[in-house]
Amino acid sequence: MLYFDNNATTQIDERALSVLCEISKESYGNASSIYPYGMKSKKIILEARKQIATLFNAPSENIIFTSSATESNNAVINASVVACLEKKHIITTSVEHPSVLRPLDELKRHGYEIDLLSVDSVGRIDLVELQGKLRKDTLLVSIMLVNNEIGNIYPVKKAVEVVKKINSEILFHTDAVQAIGKIKVDVKELGVDFLSFSGHKFHAPKGVGGIYIKNPGRFTPHIFGGDQEFGLRSGTENVPSIAAIGRAAELVDLQEEPERLSNMRDKIERAVLTKFAGTKVIGDIDDRACNTTNLLIPNVNGVTLVASLGELGVCVSSGSACSSNDKNRSHVLIAMGIDGKSIRISLSRLNSHEDTKRFIFILLQTIEKIQRRK
Ligand code: PLP
Repeated sequence: MLYFDNNATTQIDERALSVLCEISKESYGNASSIYPYGMKSKKIILEARKQIATLFNAPSENIIFTSSATESNNAVINASVVACLEKKHIITTSVEHPSVLRPLDELKRHGYEIDLLSVDSVGRIDLVELQGKLRKDTLLVSIMLVNNEIGNIYPVKKAVEVVKKINSEILFHTDAVQAIGKIKVDVKELGVDFLSFSGHKFHAPKGVGGIYIKNPGRFTPHIFGGDQEFGLRSGTENVPSIAAIGRAAELVDLQEEPERLSNMRDKIERAVLTKFAGTKVIGDIDDRACNTTNLLIPNVNGVTLVASLGELGVCVSSGSACSSNDKNRSHVLIAMGIDGKSIRISLSRLNSHEDTKRFIFILLQTIEKIQRRK
């Protein structure tokens, strides 16, 4: 198999997997139990919290673990609304993940006003538009750090400055799920109030994620119960997965990997662009994550290409969901004013140059076959 769909999910790293297996077997004590075997689990969580905190340059006590970034994003939106009940306005972008857009849709049904920042034809947002949309009753601005479909890196630090200069009380959240392992993620530099992350996008197991919370004292929980995670997210901790996400955080390599990934990504792009005239790279080629390319190839339906590659054991995804009707087209491409069905290729540190060569060979052949059928 050739796996080039790492923005969908990544393979768990062997070293994180051994932690997961070992802790599952050896340390199944409940972290809330007061005998030493329970305390051992508590210590494991403490260590993982430190490892995640180090990755984000945050204090440990400002990190909580959740089940996913979907939960984290929902939790942040909920906590922000509860913290500012008198305010009714939220700003986000039109290209966020559904785990931000959908809860905001729900809030709309309850009388909240949601403003979506537009993007240009390469998916960039405009900070002047952001400034213009800020209101007295704006309670939250949520802008992702890296887009999952096109890889664009958004100017979160500058956006925070724009927002806080006008009103430092407005909360700022970033969904950093796709940034980890690709760019530096430093919460102090970014200046955000909340940041969401998810393990399975950086070689940790699925079902574990978390939130950086700048001001935990003002965070209203979305799940109540046994007061785990400083009382901010109840539920018996998933100790093996938490330990594994901590280990995965330690394994993030920003020294060599970004360049290696962008070299491989650029090779793929060049091969397609050279062979198939008229191919369009979708996104901001001057400011995007090192591992992602999104390609619109003439006379090739991205969904057909994804399916054909899948039959050959090659995994990529379509820039637009698997349907020909408008309802299921990618909301990101629609926001960019792009019509068509692209493919998204996303790499990770578990892809080798050898893989990439084989991938390019099969990709070019498959595109040719599809074009010939037309
Ligand atoms: N945010 C972004 C940008 C994503 O790409 C994803 C997953 O694809 C999520 C949030 C949701 O993450 P999880 O799968 O952990 O719920």
